Amino acid sequence: MMNTTIEATFKGYDIESIRKDFPILNRKVKGYPLVYFDNAATSQKPQSVIDALVHYYSYNNANVHRGIHSLAEEATADFEATRDAVKSFINAQSREEIIYTRGTTESINLVAYTWAKQNLAEGDEVIISGMEHHSNIVPWQIICEQNKARLKVIPVNINGELLMDEFENLLSDRTKLVAVNHVSNAMGTVNPVKTIIQKAHAKGAVVLIDGAQSAMHLDIDVQDLDCDFFAFSSHKLLGPTGMGILYGKKELLQTMPVFAGGGEMIREVTFEKTTYNDLPYKFEAGTPNIADAIALKPAIDYINKIGKENIRRHEDMLLAHATKKLKEIEGLKVIGDNDHKVSVVSFVIEGVHPQDIGVLLDNRGIAVRTGHHCAEPLMNHFCIPGTIRASFALYNTTEEIDLMMEALNRAVKVLR
Ligand code: PMP
Repeated sequence: MMNTTIEATFKGYDIESIRKDFPILNRKVKGYPLVYFDNAATSQKPQSVIDALVHYYSYNNANVHRGIHSLAEEATADFEATRDAVKSFINAQSREEIIYTRGTTESINLVAYTWAKQNLAEGDEVIISGMEHHSNIVPWQIICEQNKARLKVIPVNINGELLMDEFENLLSDRTKLVAVNHVSNAMGTVNPVKTIIQKAHAKGAVVLIDGAQSAMHLDIDVQDLDCDFFAFSSHKLLGPTGMGILYGKKELLQTMPVFAGGGEMIREVTFEKTTYNDLPYKFEAGTPNIADAIALKPAIDYINKIGKENIRRHEDMLLAHATKKLKEIEGLKVIGDNDHKVSVVSFVIEGVHPQDIGVLLDNRGIAVRTGHHCAEPLMNHFCIPGTIRASFALYNTTEEIDLMMEALNRAVKVLR
């Protein structure tokens, strides 16, 4: 299916061999070669990630940290190797700052139920933005309600960008926490998080960055950003589901109360008093998700091997191609039409329901996401029920975009 002449996007980016590393790209859907444009929901996995899962269960399966036998030692070494890979991947200062979770959602909830629960007093304020995923809205609503704090929202303009002046107006001496996404999952907008962090810190607030959509596409340097927390999911960056990361500054993590109680997070237990383990284990109660943690490392290795800059260049090319072609469709409106985006294009078409488009594209083997993308307040802002979202990854091609355009044009004719 591949046409390497179209795909010779720039020297050194070997799209054909990249595609061969992702076995699922060989399958057919409804008789057509799969075109997978739902990467913002979850990415596909390279063979090396799949192999790591099989290898662990076939050769190393053992619980981590506790055993002194060979299998336990091997599993522990592989499990902990991922922590070092993540530390480098986001340039954290120490491996103690890397907490394993189930995903972005759990990472955010961990901060809500520990740091925020302890630090938010009545009348304090939490600032989020109008383009947050429900995972970065609901935990703050819950904690604000419990602690009688107030939730404030940075408004979004018509192009899907944050209104930074309004953000400055919202900041006050009562602001204790700012929690915003680095990249919007619904539109692909890249937010000026470094500025947000600086301005929030100037008011003494702590900042959590939801990096679910940025970790795959942007260089992440938590020390340069100076964020206090950074949350992301393995499954959106070529790794397995059920695994995520919470980065936190060590001095903050040390002062935080524990999240869940159980094995591993303790130092000593008596019926009178329990003392807790050191970082990062203090926040990792129970048997962890060993296999998926181990298989996150080959995902990170894969991204590092191709290079974020190369991935970004390829994805930018795909985004530009798709946006240009889509805008040729009469009555089509891009939601979040701005020029600081990662490879997500969200759109609506006059007179056509997004879901109907999704079904007709699927009939041609093309997977896009339709609906509110877990960002209902943002959809309300644009007065739409949802969008059609095509999100591209390092293995997608312009040829696939052209197939989508063909199917889309056909679908619009049928539906109008
Ligand atoms: N935040 C953003 C911006 C997301 O895109 C997502 C996933 N769609 C999440 C949070 C939640 O991630 P997860 O479901 O992996 O916990």
